[in-house]
Amino acid sequence: MPRRRSFKPLDSSQGRFTVAAILCTFALFSALSVGLSVRATEGSHHRATVVQVAARQRTLAERYVQEVLLVRQGQRADPAYTGGVLRDSVVALLHGGTAPAVNGDDDATRLAPFKGARVRAQLEQERRLAADLTATGAAILAGRPARGRLTAHEHVRGGDPMLRLRTLAALTSNVSLNTARSMAAGADKGISDLITMQVALGLAGLLASLGLAWALIAATRRQTAHFRSLVTSSTDLVLVFGEGGVRYVSASVTEMLGRTDHELLGEGLVEQVHGDDRVALETTVAQGTSDGVVFRMCDRFGEWRHLEARVTDLRGDRQVQGVVLNARDISERVRLEEQLTVQAFHDGLTGLANRALFRDRLNQALARSARSPAPLAVLLVDLDGFKQVNDSLGHDAGDHLLLEVGRRFDGVVRPNDTLARLGGDEFALLLDGADGPRATAVADRLLECLLEPIEVADRELTLSASVGVVVHPGGAGDSEVLVRHADVAMYAAKAAGRARWEVFHNEMDREFGEDLGLAQELRVGLQRGEFSLHYQPEVAIDSSALVGVEALLRWQSPSRGNVPPDQFIPVAEDTGLIMPIGEFVLREACEQTAQWRRAGLLPDSFVTWVNLSGKQLSVGGVPTTVHAALEASGLPPEFLGLEVTETAIVEGGAAGERARSELQELHSEGVSLAIDDFGTGFSSLGQLRRFPVDVIKVDRSFIHGVEHDPKDSAIAANLVSLAHALNLVAVAEGIESDGQLTSLRSLGCDLAQGFLFARPAPADVVTQMLADGGPPVPGAPPATAPGRPHTITALPGA
Ligand code: C2E
Ligand code: CA
Ligand code: CA
Repeated sequence: MPRRRSFKPLDSSQGRFTVAAILCTFALFSALSVGLSVRATEGSHHRATVVQVAARQRTLAERYVQEVLLVRQGQRADPAYTGGVLRDSVVALLHGGTAPAVNGDDDATRLAPFKGARVRAQLEQERRLAADLTATGAAILAGRPARGRLTAHEHVRGGDPMLRLRTLAALTSNVSLNTARSMAAGADKGISDLITMQVALGLAGLLASLGLAWALIAATRRQTAHFRSLVTSSTDLVLVFGEGGVRYVSASVTEMLGRTDHELLGEGLVEQVHGDDRVALETTVAQGTSDGVVFRMCDRFGEWRHLEARVTDLRGDRQVQGVVLNARDISERVRLEEQLTVQAFHDGLTGLANRALFRDRLNQALARSARSPAPLAVLLVDLDGFKQVNDSLGHDAGDHLLLEVGRRFDGVVRPNDTLARLGGDEFALLLDGADGPRATAVADRLLECLLEPIEVADRELTLSASVGVVVHPGGAGDSEVLVRHADVAMYAAKAAGRARWEVFHNEMDREFGEDLGLAQELRVGLQRGEFSLHYQPEVAIDSSALVGVEALLRWQSPSRGNVPPDQFIPVAEDTGLIMPIGEFVLREACEQTAQWRRAGLLPDSFVTWVNLSGKQLSVGGVPTTVHAALEASGLPPEFLGLEVTETAIVEGGAAGERARSELQELHSEGVSLAIDDFGTGFSSLGQLRRFPVDVIKVDRSFIHGVEHDPKDSAIAANLVSLAHALNLVAVAEGIESDGQLTSLRSLGCDLAQGFLFARPAPADVVTQMLADGGPPVPGAPPATAPGRPHTITALPGA
């Protein structure tokens, strides 16, 4: 596995290594050069001695001849000694050893054997000549004939021994001279070789040092580049402040500000800092505090960037001598925080203030008014008929409408006023300092701005609004009460015929405050368990069998008594309370049905029907609630049916799509679906065919006149045959008389539900009924239920 090299941009050991290498190379070459010189000097000293000894031979040979002549003439001389020195010297030159001293002239000299082949050959010849010379001299002095064969193979003409001696001496002298010359020439060559060598060494040393120096420079450059790229590619902004302002800015700073560093150094940078932040920045730099500082700078696009800087005081550091700011651009974070604040206090759709911000502004205005009494007004605006638009054209169209209304209202108000959307189609307006006349004038303008039609989903719609106005005369006040009074005034405007404003007065509270109170009571009632379910049986018209029940909600209010669902369900829908209430109904109905089932009271294909509000469907999440109820009770989905109205399933837009797919999902799991109040809505045949419905419940209004009114009878007949054509079960709702029952039976209607059979009743009554085999069937053969009353008037829940 290859070893990973670590990245050390600031490692100084690399440079140190190179410097050491350069020094070593220098030392090595110097030592080599000195060594060579020393050796060469020693060699040449020795050679000089050798040359001297060699040159001395010539003199010795000549002196030997003269000494032989002197001895022959009877004078004092010692040729034998001179001859000995001559011979010993040449042997020492040739084979190494000591060259003897010549009387008084010099010292005995130790010599190494000479190496050059040419010189050795010359020395060899010299040795033989010296031997011949001294042999001839000795023969002459001894009076012997000197005629022996010469070892050096010289040819000496004539028999004169003196001539022979002189010739040999001349030869010896000559060879000695040549030898000495050869030796000197060799020494000269050694010196020039030495010079060449020194020059070569010098060059090699220079080259090696240059190479190493280059390596050192390259390494330094690389390090600097690494460091520079680390600093410049870092998104952090680095600034150094010193005497006289900024002394250094990193590339990230110049890039962000779109200026050169010359423009920023000194006082240039501070000019780019937001006026409000300058003092804080300068104080931080002056004190060198390490807490850091946040400041704004104008970037090259003219936008304010928020910078958060850490401060390091390096004024004591000799290399830096300044205060270092390490800054991060936190503009994105700041923007996000601002956005979150906006989201928390503004309506996501229209961008207007939301309920929380409105309340806050109202409280502030009231506090001001309490300090120095000044009037203020609150206007509450509710769009008339917005729900129908939303239901029929879909939520997208509804949203578009709200946006346009918000835009128009915004055009009416002054910058000091607070316009808010409180939710749904409800807007609120706070007019600080406004008295009654001004408030109603603004209300007029709000109504006027809606007169021009709004284009939504290729249609032109004209909406009106009901405006409730409340005027606070000044002094202390309660925002809660003010808003409630505006609400009451708004209800009054609706009650007075919509498309108008009403100013709150105290009698109104008694009249309309009740409606508002109802919502509050519903909320509390739900928590206190004031709601319960009654169940109304559903029977097969021909076999009289009990095939199911419809769960109907009952509210027993401690203050109002029994409140009919027609009264409180619309309020629950308006306030969103229908969601928890709907959940309660599903849970309760499933639990009760599961109990009946566990008790073995339920016939095959029995279904408990639960009413779903259109609001529940448009909000979504119905399957989740249904699944939870089924799971909690352990009831199989086949025992549950959902009743929805036509309008709920034909709704357009994304919400309508989702509602249909949620119902389809539940249907595929086994939950039955019925269309309630059929005939009163506008469902098209096409939609009915595509939607997985099992049951159609023909509305009570058609059943009412089926016996006597030919029109009702015709419609009922049509609805029944329509159901059958679509392969659906037809149920007649609200059968109260035998005549109605007979008519429907003759129309072929499958199931029936109505007071004629049973009124909605509490669970225990139905339990009894199930145990008895169902309610009595009116008009059935007497054998089935002889003498029993046609309606069960004694039922407690009726
Ligand atoms: P609906 O779904 O059409 O329920 C049938 C209504 O007709 C019930 O009124 C029932 O008491 C009444 N009814 C049954 N047989 C007869 C009859 O022979 N003659 C007459 N005159 N009326 C008969 P109720 O219980 O007052 O409910 C009124 C409406 O309130 C229901 O109409 C339904 O739309 C709504 N509702 C009731 N319970 C719930 C519920 O749990 N959730 C939702 N979303 N709506 C509910
Ligand atoms: Ca129903
Ligand atoms: Ca109905």
